[in-house]
Amino acid sequence: MNILLLGSGGREHALAWKIAASPLAERLYCAPGNAGIAKEAEIVALDVADHAAVIAFCRAQQIGLVVVGPEGPLCAGIVDDLAAAGIKAFGPSKAAARLEGSKGFTKDLCRANNIPTAAYERFTAADPAKAYARAQGAPIVVKADGLAAGKGVVVAQSVTEAEAAIDMMFAGGLGAAGAEVVIEEFLTGEEASFFALCDGERAIPLVSAQDHKRVLDGDQGPNTGGMGAYSPAPVMTAELTQRTMAEIVLPTVRAMKSMGTPYKGVLYAGLMITAQGPKLIEYNVRFGDPECQVLMLRLMSDLVPALLACCDGVLGSFDLRWYPDAALTVVMAAKGYPGSYAKGSVIEGLDAAAAIEGVEIFHAGTLMENGNVVANGGRVLNVCAIGKEVVTAQARAYQAIDLVRWSDGFCRRDIGWRAIARERA
Ligand code: AMP
Repeated sequence: MNILLLGSGGREHALAWKIAASPLAERLYCAPGNAGIAKEAEIVALDVADHAAVIAFCRAQQIGLVVVGPEGPLCAGIVDDLAAAGIKAFGPSKAAARLEGSKGFTKDLCRANNIPTAAYERFTAADPAKAYARAQGAPIVVKADGLAAGKGVVVAQSVTEAEAAIDMMFAGGLGAAGAEVVIEEFLTGEEASFFALCDGERAIPLVSAQDHKRVLDGDQGPNTGGMGAYSPAPVMTAELTQRTMAEIVLPTVRAMKSMGTPYKGVLYAGLMITAQGPKLIEYNVRFGDPECQVLMLRLMSDLVPALLACCDGVLGSFDLRWYPDAALTVVMAAKGYPGSYAKGSVIEGLDAAAAIEGVEIFHAGTLMENGNVVANGGRVLNVCAIGKEVVTAQARAYQAIDLVRWSDGFCRRDIGWRAIARERA
């Protein structure tokens, strides 16, 4: 079949790489794509926000499956519009995408279904929100209800900081996303990224992963979209995986079905592994970026039948096979990220880096200009590697990075440190 992939990041390059390897994929298109994706798919200049244009393209190219990478189009209802036009698409409906699109919706769903999560309240005005924050005390977490491109969460170390965040959000600092605010208890523990494929009724877990959100070594500095990831995450024991499915994912799938908005697609649970067990920090309604990159490297099975099984509601008979090897990815970002950064610098040495055994380079924010790969975003490259253990994968990834010549770029040098410490122990 012909397949259309929507998105332009490292996640989509990894998906394109895996989809292109499927014997089921005849022609693979991607919009808007990037310079790396162009090696796997035909890039099409489609405005993804223009659903009518996407539908027209699908009809003209006889697209049998649309795979939606990022949350924006999902929350905008692209899967509903494609379905209404008779086009199959992987990802949740607009109503089901509220699990990411509204933090208040997800918190209420957790409360109604006894799903472990941080204690919280929802607010539509600053004064009662501040009174609640004062009564609870710091540290406390202030979250914009809607999609805020990763800027909607403030972990406040003092009540003053919480009050400032509340004022910023209600003053429109995050646009419509901050018209409602969730204030929640600060959880302590180790974070993990948990993924499950869902077909509306059933869910099957993927292998474990962890990412590094902070920009600097030692997990210091401001939050980013993710500076690296690895799989497996040794913190996710078989028992924790089983509890996460039983206590968090499956009750969510059941609740969504009973509300008449069944969840189909990949469900990404951001977890805090607390002393009491796994608690849900938040849901995302798509693959994590950069976690997707390491998951695709470890996936032995064909991805396309798995995506189709989610769409068709037939996950029940499905079994995914994985390579036992570990995978790790290091993000190379433009200097200045997650703040302001320049675009347009030339990146060299990618072929030599990719030639190292076990290494795969996925592009995140790149562009082809006069035959050169140039930086075109904050997170620019994902240098990935597989290896017997996380420590081997890490060594290969940094060996490859040392061959990349890009003076405007930087990366963390310690991706995987928690996993490697556990491997050593
Ligand atoms: P989110 O965008 O909801 O994943 O939040 C971004 C980051 O903020 C998370 O990865 C956590 O590091 C942190 N965070 C969010 N909620 C909490 C919480 N209730 N307790 C502690 N940390 C949190």
